[in-house]
Amino acid sequence: MQYIAVMREYNLFIGGAWTNSSTDETFEDINPATLDKLASFQVANRDDVARAVDAAWAAFKLWSETPAPKRAMVLFRAARLLEERKEELAVLMTQEMGKVLSETRGDVQEAIDITLYAAGEGRRMLGETTTSELKDKFCMTVLQPIGVIGVITPWNFPIAIPAWKLMPALVAGNGIVMKPASDTPLLTLKLVEILMEAGLPPGVINLIFGPGETVGAALVHHPDIRAISFTGSLATGKWIMGECAQDMKRVSLELGGKNPIIIMDDADLDLALEGVVWGAFGTTGQRCTAASRVIVHEAVKDEFTTRLMARTQALRLGNGLDPKTDVGPVINERQLRKIESYIQIGRNEGATLLTGGNVISPGLSGYFIQPTIFTAVESDMRIAQEEIFGPVVSLISISGLDEAIEVANATRYGLSSSIYTRDIASAFRAINEIEAGITYINSSTIGAEVHLSFGGVKGTGNGFREAGTDAIKEFTEVKAVYIDYSGKLQKAQID
Ligand code: NAD
Repeated sequence: MQYIAVMREYNLFIGGAWTNSSTDETFEDINPATLDKLASFQVANRDDVARAVDAAWAAFKLWSETPAPKRAMVLFRAARLLEERKEELAVLMTQEMGKVLSETRGDVQEAIDITLYAAGEGRRMLGETTTSELKDKFCMTVLQPIGVIGVITPWNFPIAIPAWKLMPALVAGNGIVMKPASDTPLLTLKLVEILMEAGLPPGVINLIFGPGETVGAALVHHPDIRAISFTGSLATGKWIMGECAQDMKRVSLELGGKNPIIIMDDADLDLALEGVVWGAFGTTGQRCTAASRVIVHEAVKDEFTTRLMARTQALRLGNGLDPKTDVGPVINERQLRKIESYIQIGRNEGATLLTGGNVISPGLSGYFIQPTIFTAVESDMRIAQEEIFGPVVSLISISGLDEAIEVANATRYGLSSSIYTRDIASAFRAINEIEAGITYINSSTIGAEVHLSFGGVKGTGNGFREAGTDAIKEFTEVKAVYIDYSGKLQKAQID
């Protein structure tokens, strides 16, 4: 069954109502496989951002005072609606973002999973009770909502990433002003519609659209925004962190990656091959966890390279709605040109282009580029250091585990990582020594599950984690509470 999006103009969602923006500007939402227009969206300005922030604060009192298990009921209902509409949302997402249908189904499933997980938090929200150094005194910590939070998201997981942020933030009792990426606003809008249908009170979530540089920046700068939760590029994340520092605003950052797969000489090469193809070319390489560096032992490099080239050349590019398609388009023309320019950079740096490298049109007018492999790559080349965010993988040869780990760690990022080996000691050295938030053993760099913490080290973030038991921490403040029932003044550290 094919669902075709109806071309229409969307305005902003503020205080529980669809409302016109204060500008007369709009932007178009384009299918990257066909260049069909899916919808258009009104562009907000600073006044609209201010209206949205005021609406979120107006709703905050009632929502934050609603018991967490009751807030969670909204999420349970939202999860059911997401399940009912999974196929419809997945088809729409393939049209909006381009990735193949099996992956957009996975994206919606991830949103369902985090919604259920966060809903469960409604009956936990665990603080601590502990002892006091004084007699007749009781000590505990409680989790409190932060207030109104600005949520800014990228386009590569159009429903999963918004859900990863919104669901824990909502169950914790916060108000939200959200600005999705302009390439994929429709799926975020669908998620917000579902939350409203599930019973979220008006104003708790507000949706504004427009460029990051103006609308996103206005959200970052608004004095009544208590925290920014951002997923996107390192450059934008650095800027946001600097701006938030001016107001001492809390900011959580989930940024890029340059994720390595190490293939040792004792690896199961069949398994490693599947892991590299999935990690490098799944989502057309547009994942923060994409495997963009394959660090392969020289003893197996030739065999692995030959097999990887054959597998890669057999991948079929096309519209993600076509079940025969393995690799969909990239998101937009700017991204296409950026990937092309990195392919040229790789050539200029002296790496060997083994296969791919061309922009092509598989009978469609969208943004398609061939899955591309570079070999003879040195670790310090730009193609091995900078996030390309496309279907381009670099093969780097090493002679042992020490060198492999050194190369794995030799980037500014530290999100995901993987090692293929049959040796348990090598696996544990990788777990202990790779600088990354995630390490997979005998599996690709992709595949996070929502009940484990997600995030990275070094340039990938600023220490926060999403999902798992950390999900709630990102969106709550901890208050320490001391209850003295001794009936007298007791002095800690003195009495
Ligand atoms: P981006 O930084 O260009 O944009 C992300 C969001 O920030 C968009 O909504 C954009 O409009 C907004 N934005 C841009 N400039 C802004 C500004 N000055 N102020 C406020 N908001 C601004 O990133 P992108 O191209 O949309 O996404 C790709 C990047 O996201 C990659 O680097 C990828 O690795 C990263 N990413 C990270 C994770 C993770 O969890 N670590 C997950 C997915 C994507």
